[in-house]
Amino acid sequence: MARLGSWIEPFPEGIYVKPADAWVDPSRPKAQALVTHGHADHARGGHGAVWATPETLAIMETRYGEQAGRPVQYDDSVRIGEVDVGFVPAGHVLGSAQIVLEYGGERVVVSGDYKRRPDPTCAPFVVVPCDIFITEATFGLPVFRHPDTGSEIDRLLHRLHAEPERCVLVGAYALGKAQRVIMELRGRGHDEPIYYHGAMERLCALYDELGVPLGDLRPATGASKQELAGKIVICPPGALNDRWSRRLPDPITAMASGWMRIRQRARQRNVELPLVISDHADWDELTQTIREVAPKQVWITHGREDALMHWCMTHQIKARELNLVGYEDEDE
Ligand SMILES: [Zn+2]
Ligand SMILES: [Zn+2]
Repeated sequence: MARLGSWIEPFPEGIYVKPADAWVDPSRPKAQALVTHGHADHARGGHGAVWATPETLAIMETRYGEQAGRPVQYDDSVRIGEVDVGFVPAGHVLGSAQIVLEYGGERVVVSGDYKRRPDPTCAPFVVVPCDIFITEATFGLPVFRHPDTGSEIDRLLHRLHAEPERCVLVGAYALGKAQRVIMELRGRGHDEPIYYHGAMERLCALYDELGVPLGDLRPATGASKQELAGKIVICPPGALNDRWSRRLPDPITAMASGWMRIRQRARQRNVELPLVISDHADWDELTQTIREVAPKQVWITHGREDALMHWCMTHQIKARELNLVGYEDEDE
């Protein structure tokens, strides 16, 4: 009998599915690509044909222009070559999917990036039992335990109300994190206009269009200091300390990221109000997910793989590092 998963071949540039002649999240243009979600380190432009959820394809088209898209809805499957390919929610960002590959009586799940806690902008992660579970390990160390998201949002609102003459400037990745922070604020009753940096505009409009109602959003550019006092402004992390932010009324600098758990990272970015809000599984979510999926093998794509490898071994699960390149975790 062939070795388990011998039909899946990891390369530094992506995961090659031989009997489908297709690549999962390739970092270089390929004739046939299967894409888990729209973050730039997973979804590149220029592929011959791209299978992804309709939401992911819409995000790719917003960023890269027209795609040779082959939309697959959640829980539908298509046959590519000799492989049955399905897309199942990953709970990471709008449209994010785990890709379920079935061939020769084996099932392999490529999870892409994922998280387990609720996110008002996307469908929750679905557990799919399988033979090989291919997982990320961005926060694959026991020190990473993300706090409750609601309490982080409450800290943000508290600070906003405590200093009404200032604004709170929140650095958040433009795809996923920004919209999630907005929706979490809305869910906690914050109905005020929220102001955004120009780089967020198209993706926020797309989320609205795809059924995630972000409420009253306004461009920060052109708004007066007076108008922005006591308001929340969202920008990409890169704009937190640049010239752009000087037009704001004495901003309280915040950043929403799983990395804010590390004080040094917050200091590096001059972040006054670090918000630990992550779109990736923390240590408990990673290990809980592996327990529930109960695979024979775990393959780890990127992140801090050592501790998770060790955890798998002590739980009698064979584990392997794939060392894929180009997954930057910028999205965190
Ligand atoms: Zn991602
Ligand atoms: Zn990623």
